[in-house]
Amino acid sequence: MFVHMIVGPMFANKTERLILEINREPYANRTVGCFKPMTDDRYARNKIVAHSGRSVDCTPIEFAEELLAYTDRYDTFVLDEVQFFDVGIVEAVRKLATAKKRVIGAGLNQDWMGRPFGFVGDLLAMAGRISLLDSHCSVCHALGTKTQKIAGENSTVDVGSGEKYEPRCCEHWKPEVE
Ligand SMILES: [Zn+2]
Repeated sequence: MFVHMIVGPMFANKTERLILEINREPYANRTVGCFKPMTDDRYARNKIVAHSGRSVDCTPIEFAEELLAYTDRYDTFVLDEVQFFDVGIVEAVRKLATAKKRVIGAGLNQDWMGRPFGFVGDLLAMAGRISLLDSHCSVCHALGTKTQKIAGENSTVDVGSGEKYEPRCCEHWKPEVE
């Protein structure tokens, strides 16, 4: 089994893609456990919610190592908003993969300043499959992989949606609050 990472900027339909992967697993006779870090509370805490409104139930966890308690319960581990997990996510995913579990993670690979977000870089290094999604730039509508911050605090983690962030191409993105 391998680690599949679904990454990209905001509004790249990462969660939509994740839900598609979740819905395919039962056809392979695989049980699925869905998780997300507790820091993400944009929408319901116990649901993985795409911008389209489609959702899947999940278990919010405080520390990434808690995932290992579910090792015997599921064949596939789905992780949303992976950029918000603590450093324990690297070892937890490695252990799950070693235990022949499938791990499907989705999240932002870069923060709005263009830096590697959280420990996603480490997860990408362990991935057997990477889906780098893109989104249409809000200025020129070309495909882009950047997230522009348009409002809010000047901190790395500032949970929000369309009121704070927009997808941009490299030409129209800058690492500052616009
Ligand atoms: Zn553009």
